[in-house]
Amino acid sequence: MVGHADSCRVWIGLDDTDNPDSGCTTATFDDLLGEISQLDNFEVIERRLVRLWPFAERRTRGNGALACILKCPKSSINILEKLLSNFFSQLVIELKIEENSLTSPALIYTLNKLNEDFYWQAVRHKVDLDKRRNSLDGVNILSLENSDWGIIGASSAMAWNPSDDSTWELISWRFPEKIGTQRKVTSSRVKEMESLHPETFVNRDPTADKGLIAPRTPCPVLYGIRGSNSQAVLSAHLWLQSQSDVEKCERYAIHRTNQLSDDHILGFSTATVLTKPVETKGAHSALEVFSNGRNITLVAFKEGGDVNRLLRKLIPGDRINWLGLESPDGSIHLERLSIESSLPRITGRPTCCNGKTMRSAGSKQPLRCLNCQKVSKKYWLYDEINLSGIELTNNWVEPSASQRRHLSKPLILGAPTSSGKN
Ligand SMILES: [Zn+2]
Repeated sequence: MVGHADSCRVWIGLDDTDNPDSGCTTATFDDLLGEISQLDNFEVIERRLVRLWPFAERRTRGNGALACILKCPKSSINILEKLLSNFFSQLVIELKIEENSLTSPALIYTLNKLNEDFYWQAVRHKVDLDKRRNSLDGVNILSLENSDWGIIGASSAMAWNPSDDSTWELISWRFPEKIGTQRKVTSSRVKEMESLHPETFVNRDPTADKGLIAPRTPCPVLYGIRGSNSQAVLSAHLWLQSQSDVEKCERYAIHRTNQLSDDHILGFSTATVLTKPVETKGAHSALEVFSNGRNITLVAFKEGGDVNRLLRKLIPGDRINWLGLESPDGSIHLERLSIESSLPRITGRPTCCNGKTMRSAGSKQPLRCLNCQKVSKKYWLYDEINLSGIELTNNWVEPSASQRRHLSKPLILGAPTSSGKN
């Protein structure tokens, strides 16, 4: 135990140690903390898994970075520095980084917490690497001279200031000999786990009846369990590991995360629809709206499910609330959508004999039944918007669980707040 007055805190951040085919920064970070835990009087206070701006160019799969806070004796800082330096040198050798590789590792440590602005910049915007590196003057950075993109993620994860309602993820890693083989975590076990541990969430996609906790890539992660507190994810994990048909993990760790925080977006905005939706390549849909004083394009991808289905039903004049992320081309990629008010949908002219539609002979002419010659003044029949087949939660729609971003807050955890309140 570290209790004496000469103890201090150390923030450590790590990112960009993986590539799309192998490795995982979470496992590398766990290796590092495993080594640190061997040192006398070192205590890991908290681990953090932080997701960043989904459009970042250099992102790997989930654009997540790792950080932790340590407590240790001040007199042992030099021992820690030596360990970090050796660890990084060894890591670079193991990574066998080639030119133009996506792997661009950085290991950062400080004795003071970094400015929280570093986090907000990186979760909502593109961050310039040179600018970030320069603003970390005096911070200890281990990186390669010509490939240090990991600096952005590592420093941003260290700068994150969690709120009381941050979420947790327990990550378990596979035995090395299992990596690359099929994971044994059935959808029915995940379903059982979820019902026994209601404080865990986003474990399954109920629309597809499939488990979401195990990745489908050849990385070392066995599964990740998300929940509202650390005890819940731990209990769920221990239950899962006690089932004989579930693959046993080699090790696991609990991380505090910004997942489901909506930190990447400002709250929702109101808009008036200006055009009919246009279907683009791949069944994606887009339309123009007037929102926040300007014309903008809202895009709903086919994978957006109900968001896409609802967008397609809109007509000019409808009033909507939208929540989404501005893409580099300026259009908004929708994450959630709701209808504030909709105009009547014209369905046609009234009918007469045997359901025959009454017609007008011209602009100043009345409607006339061509069968019985009955005359009527001109009018349209109309309907309300038809929302059948669309699942609304508190009047909002969202993509299915497997299609949502790590950062997005599911509607089941609450309706979005307006951009003015964020
Ligand atoms: Zn008639």
